[in-house]
Amino acid sequence: MENTEKFERTCVIIKPDGVMRGLIGEIIKRIEQRGLKIVALSMIWAKKEQIDSHYPKDSEWIKRLGEKTLGTYRKYGLDPIKELGTDDPYKIGLEVRSWLLEYMTSGPLVKMVVEGIHAIDMVRKIVGSSIPANAEMGTIRGDFSVDSPDIANREKRAIHNLIHASETPQEARHEIELWFSPEEIFYYKRTEENLMF
Ligand code: GDP
Ligand code: MG
Repeated sequence: MENTEKFERTCVIIKPDGVMRGLIGEIIKRIEQRGLKIVALSMIWAKKEQIDSHYPKDSEWIKRLGEKTLGTYRKYGLDPIKELGTDDPYKIGLEVRSWLLEYMTSGPLVKMVVEGIHAIDMVRKIVGSSIPANAEMGTIRGDFSVDSPDIANREKRAIHNLIHASETPQEARHEIELWFSPEEIFYYKRTEENLMF
């Protein structure tokens, strides 16, 4: 059965570091306590091709990822040309994207579909900023992660920040379609739905 129009769906993935640190329960607890509903849930050890399809391939997204990384190099006084052989945001974005494929296939993932009012923004708020030092206390990344882009870049790997959550309705649609068949997504009512909204 379809969800009602007032609800939105988002895709959440607990990354290998979240799974291996035993944070599955803690992460799900925080999503559920906010009043959001888990409508699909499973564990998978993903293949590189699946992660390659998961992260966007358009040049704008790749450039944005490269810009983010360049920002860190600048902030910590590192020379991107010395570290990576280029200061081109697109090329650096591609490089970080390849680090992400390694990271996301280094252990099992827990993937889920979360449904609720403004689910995309609500979950992003619960998750916190991509860079652990910028993540507010009380967010998943702010409370449990301590990695730095500076160190991650130097070690040529993605920042270990526990969790992925769709940023836009387009990302959510794409990711839900990629990771779940319609039969794996369930319709049910949480008991407090009539009281909360
Ligand atoms: P998210 O939506 O908050 O996960 O962040 P993005 O979509 O911008 O980036 C995807 C993932 O790439 C992040 O969660 C990090 O694991 C990794 N990442 C992002 N920016 C950087 C960076 O500057 N350096 C490195 N090494 N990894 C990064
Ligand atoms: Mg993102």
